[in-house]
Amino acid sequence: MDYVYGPGRNHLFVPGPVNIPEQVIRAMNRNNEDYRSPAIPAMTRTLLEDVKKIFKTTSGTPFLIPTTGTGAWESALTNTLSPGDRIVSFLIGQFSLLWIDQQQRLNFNVDVVESDWGQGANLEVLASKLAADSAHTIKAICIVHNETATGVTNNLAAVRKILDHYQHPALFLVDGVSSICALDFRMDEWGIDVALTGSQKALSLPTGMGIVCASPKALEASKTAKSLRVFFDWKDYLKFYKMGTFWPYTPSIQLLYGLRTALDLIFEEGLDNVIARHGRLAKATRQSYGWKNDIVISFILKCIIYFVYHFVSTPSTLVPVPLALLKKRIAVEAWGLKNCTQKEEWYSDTVTAVVVPPYIDSSEIVKRGWQRYNLSLGLGLNKVAGKVFRIGHLGNLNELQLLGCLAGVEMVLKDVGYPVKLGSGVGAACAFLQNTTPLIASRI
Ligand code: PLP
Repeated sequence: MDYVYGPGRNHLFVPGPVNIPEQVIRAMNRNNEDYRSPAIPAMTRTLLEDVKKIFKTTSGTPFLIPTTGTGAWESALTNTLSPGDRIVSFLIGQFSLLWIDQQQRLNFNVDVVESDWGQGANLEVLASKLAADSAHTIKAICIVHNETATGVTNNLAAVRKILDHYQHPALFLVDGVSSICALDFRMDEWGIDVALTGSQKALSLPTGMGIVCASPKALEASKTAKSLRVFFDWKDYLKFYKMGTFWPYTPSIQLLYGLRTALDLIFEEGLDNVIARHGRLAKATRQSYGWKNDIVISFILKCIIYFVYHFVSTPSTLVPVPLALLKKRIAVEAWGLKNCTQKEEWYSDTVTAVVVPPYIDSSEIVKRGWQRYNLSLGLGLNKVAGKVFRIGHLGNLNELQLLGCLAGVEMVLKDVGYPVKLGSGVGAACAFLQNTTPLIASRI
């Protein structure tokens, strides 16, 4: 028996790779083709034009590279920088850590700005480094827009503002792997020089395509950058772009057709609606797990009840009633789980990392979800291993799918001995979604 088999659909809620829509699966179910025939270059031309829309750029040059996010990182770095170049890079979780590791192994001089996992990039330190760098020794700022390990979204507009304030010419390199096509992302407006993503995240494709977009300034930098590069050299791509054949080596035909359909679906829904949907699903998830608002509201309500009792009850009824009410409040607070993200300004709309109490190993939650409910949740990684589990809510996903996941999480929490009231989180999410979900645009 295939031990991977489970009846019904797998509820895939890791923060990438994500569900692939049926339309995309069907579009990719095709034979190979001669990529030198007129058909593939013609399709590639439309893909390169359309992919710019998800980066919100008109001046950028995109590259569709047979690789993953990690290769896209390498493409961004090696095409724009030379060994020994000083770069400022923010360490806030596992993926920024891995990018920094790559930067160090590529022999850049990396100035690491570290924050606690659960916090965003420390932009005050960036400001002080730029202020002190009148000689412009800093060649690039590297930042992960959305740290998938902790569910933290950094403020890219603020980074641009700081760079502009100091009139600093450093290149602005952004990992948008778990943000582009899901979160508000504005390459041109925020003056981003290289932005990149991977096909298996919000685009909802199989893994295997890294999409890198370079600003005119980044292309200019690539003419003098001395980092060794062969497979990732933008020069080769640009040569073939000029020739109109587009490909310096064999592309994955199936992924190209998949990308065509994925973009068509995104444009049919409307990119802004896609981004709004991610915001809605994220809030519904946080509503289930944050409980901050509920605690505050219930506290206020209970205070009101307390004072009503205080003024209307006799001394004999005064004491037991408020105590019972307060006890209830404490119980609610006790079962509330925390978001790993420490401040609201950093909340991610693509992944929620949920902190579990110290007596529970979050890996057990992930294991149990898969074994019992055919639910795939994200593990806690590195520093937060065993401490958090992650709910990915990105890509081609709707409200009812999310509710299935939330129901599964509640059951798993109960399985591992956490005193959760079944239906409480799902109920909160339902109430929120019932109030906020619009009609499906194409069905009106
Ligand atoms: N950057 C971020 C933010 C990620 O979440 C990931 C993977 O999850 C990567 C980079 C690495 O991408 P890949 O695994 O496709 O190489």
